[in-house]
Amino acid sequence: MSATVLDTTTLDDLEGMERSYRSIPFEAILKQDILRLGLNFDAETLSGIDFKQKDYFIFTFDHVPLDQQDQQIRFRIPEEIRISGGHFNLLPTIVSVRVNPESPYRVAAGPNGGGPTLYLGSTDLGSVEFPPVPAFYKHRTQKGKSPGEIAPVIEWGYLIYLTVFRNCQYFGATEECAFCDINHNYRQQKQQDRPYTGVKSLEEILEVLEWIDQEDQTAQVYTITGGSVLTQLRGMSETDFYFQYAEGIEKRFPGRWMGKMVVQAWEKEELLRFKDVGIQIYHPNYEVWDPELFKVLCPGKTAWIGRDTWVRRIVESAEIFGPSRVIPNFVGGVELSRPHGFATVEEAVASTGEGLDYFMSHGVVPRFTTWCPEPYTTLASEAEQTMPPLKYFLELLTVWKATFEKYKLPVPPGYGEPGPGKAVFSVSAFMDVIGYQGR
Ligand code: SF4
Repeated sequence: MSATVLDTTTLDDLEGMERSYRSIPFEAILKQDILRLGLNFDAETLSGIDFKQKDYFIFTFDHVPLDQQDQQIRFRIPEEIRISGGHFNLLPTIVSVRVNPESPYRVAAGPNGGGPTLYLGSTDLGSVEFPPVPAFYKHRTQKGKSPGEIAPVIEWGYLIYLTVFRNCQYFGATEECAFCDINHNYRQQKQQDRPYTGVKSLEEILEVLEWIDQEDQTAQVYTITGGSVLTQLRGMSETDFYFQYAEGIEKRFPGRWMGKMVVQAWEKEELLRFKDVGIQIYHPNYEVWDPELFKVLCPGKTAWIGRDTWVRRIVESAEIFGPSRVIPNFVGGVELSRPHGFATVEEAVASTGEGLDYFMSHGVVPRFTTWCPEPYTTLASEAEQTMPPLKYFLELLTVWKATFEKYKLPVPPGYGEPGPGKAVFSVSAFMDVIGYQGR
């Protein structure tokens, strides 16, 4: 396992970026940097208060393995933080939490015993709130499981995240996507004696959704996702396996929440039944645009489906769901990973920008998550990784926004309100930049 080298940030850096990148809100600049470098928590700020803790809903998204995290922090950190005010007078900004004890961003008690505050060095970047515990988390399923294990919410309660299969049948360095820690996360959770269900039953999911239906008004959407199924799972093909959940949920709660699927790129004939049963949004994630990088970073997808077929299926799925309801994800920053990635920010953004233009010209709206170089991934074992510089993410956001505006695309449905102070999507700032007029 190789270490990650920290490319750190100072207040001068942030002030310089604020002056240079005027077409994107400062909230997006800081959000990307916190996602990039992770967060460092003072344990005392976490004690004596109740908040929704990180549910490890699919990956670890941490810079350090669970068994190397301080006992006072491990499984005690919040899912997200919301930062407001401070040196840059931030609008409320929701950011997903990635544990990194080396991060320059520290959450600690405010002056004179005040509430949690985000610091960069000694500079107060804003007061910090932790997400509330949803009312339905008080229940336990008939099998004694916590709702946060079966149907956790993220994005400040907006999204119900159903990882129905917590492993991936692309397994090991020759098949797993090189940046993905789904299988390693599962193993770590089990090693920590966490209840962590590998394949969730539809019945147990419906049990929790019943409580959400009755007691919760915040959640508006759900995502069905999990690892890829190459042969069979529980005697079912991949599409049959995932269809049972879409059908079961929509039959029991027709249209109660907006249904999304994050799965492989399937032929449109397969997708018809998902649309018919009530699924509205399709995320066939393409991960990285460059064909050579796709080959080395997604070896399993390359061998079983192939990049050209994957891209064709994304575009064709727009005929089923409508273009703006096809929202494939890519892993922002992985184009700069070692040893295969681009040497410069300019090359990386040019390549990814080409992909954005291609998809957006078809009305499809790619979104991105921020690459986290989790330990145990293929990339972490291949080379010492340095997080891409903040400049990369700001150039990427600038290109994403310009391309989105060039094609006059609608706000992606299923992501809540866009714009600084309103966006709830917490693993990248793409929703924070929509509609921003510049300064
Ligand atoms: S297909 Fe790739 S990214 Fe998706 S779960 Fe499997 S290894 Fe991870």
